[in-house]
Amino acid sequence: MNLSKYHLPVWIYLVLNPLISVLLAAAYYHYVGFHAGILVFAFVFAALTNLSITVGYHRLFSHRSFEAHPAVRFLLLLVGTSAWQWPVLKWASDHRIHHHRIDTAGDPYDIGRGFWHAHMGWMFLRESIDLPIRAPDLQKDAMLRFQERYYVPLAILTGYLLPALLTWLMFGDFFGGLIVAGGIRIALTQQSTFFINSLCHYVGSRPYDATISARDSWLMAILTHGEGYHNFHHAFQLDYRNGIRWYQWDPTKWTIYLLSIVGAAKNLRTIPAEAILRARLQVDESVIAKRGQITDSLKGLRDKILGAQKQLAKLTNEYSRIKSEYRERKLQIERDYRNRKLALGAAYSSKKIELQAEYRRISEEITDCRNRKIAEIRRDIKLTRIELSGMLAQWKVHRSFA
Ligand SMILES: [Zn+2]
Ligand SMILES: [Zn+2]
Repeated sequence: MNLSKYHLPVWIYLVLNPLISVLLAAAYYHYVGFHAGILVFAFVFAALTNLSITVGYHRLFSHRSFEAHPAVRFLLLLVGTSAWQWPVLKWASDHRIHHHRIDTAGDPYDIGRGFWHAHMGWMFLRESIDLPIRAPDLQKDAMLRFQERYYVPLAILTGYLLPALLTWLMFGDFFGGLIVAGGIRIALTQQSTFFINSLCHYVGSRPYDATISARDSWLMAILTHGEGYHNFHHAFQLDYRNGIRWYQWDPTKWTIYLLSIVGAAKNLRTIPAEAILRARLQVDESVIAKRGQITDSLKGLRDKILGAQKQLAKLTNEYSRIKSEYRERKLQIERDYRNRKLALGAAYSSKKIELQAEYRRISEEITDCRNRKIAEIRRDIKLTRIELSGMLAQWKVHRSFA
C-alpha cells in the first residue's frame, strides 16, 4: 500500500474522532451517565452546525445566492468553524470545482470514482487536500482569511471547548458536553454533509438535467437540511432554494427567507419559473424522444405550456406593480392633504369639512379603481393557472404512457 498518497493528519482525525467519541460516550454513559439537557443541547447545536454549513459555507459563500448582514456572516462562520469541515476558502473552492467539473476526473469528489471516494475517500488523499484555493472574491474577505489562517486552533475552540464550556455552565458537566456536543456532534454533522457528495449523486430522480449524476430525493433532503434536491441545485446553482416548492423540505431555504424578513439577508436570488419549467420539459421530451414518440402536437403542447407560464409570470409582475403603484398614490394624496392642512394654518378649521370630503372622494376613487384592476388581474392569473395545470396534466400523461 502506497501511504504517500494519503494525507495522514486528516486521515487520522477522520477515523479517530468518531471512534474515540463513541467509545468515550459508551464508557461515560456506563460510569457517569448523561444529563438529558446535554443531549438536547447537542441536538440543537448539531442542527445549527448543519445549517451553518448549508446556509453559510454552501449557499452564501460558495454560491453567493444571497447577501447577509456582517453579524450573520460572523455567526455562520463561528458555528461553521465548529464543524471541522475545513475553512470556507478551501470548502468553497473545492465545491465550485465540483460544480464546474461535475462527473469528470477534475471533480475532487467525482462520483465516477465510486461511492466511497465521493463520500469520504477523497479527503484522505493528499491530492485533494493540496488542491490550490481559487476563490478570488472570497479571498478578499479579511474574516475568511483569518478563519483560514488559524483554522485548527479555532476549530478546537469552537468545536470542542465551546460546547463543553456551555454544558459545564448549564448542567455542571464539562466532559459529557465535550464528548456528545463536541466529538459525536462533529462526526454526525460531517456525515450529513458527506451524504450530499455521495448519496445525492446516487439516490433519486433527475427532473431538471438528465445528463448529470446529481439527483433529487426528499429522503436525502431530510438527511441534509434540504440539499437533497441536488439535481435542481446542479442545474440552477445560483438559486437560494434547493427545494423550490413551498412544501419541499428545505430548512436552509426557510432560514435564508426568515433572515431576509428580519432584514438580516437581502438580494435572494431565484431562477425564473419559466426557465425551470423549460428545463423540466426538455428532460421529459428527451425521454419521450428516446421512445420515438415525439409528435408535432406534443411540441405544440410544450410551446403552449411555456407560453402560459410566461403569461403567468407577466401577470404576477403586473399584479405586484399595480399594488405598489396604488400604495404610492394613496400615500401621495395623504401627503397632499397634510401639506394643505399645514398651509391653511388657522383657516383650516373653517375649510375642514370641505377638505375632508374632497380627500375622501379622491381616496375612494383610487381604491375603487385599484380593486377593479386587482380583481381583473386576479381572475386572469387564476384562469392562466387552471389552463397551465390542465396542460401540464396532459403533458404528464404523454410522459408516462407515450
Ligand atoms: Zn453535487
Ligand atoms: Zn453547490
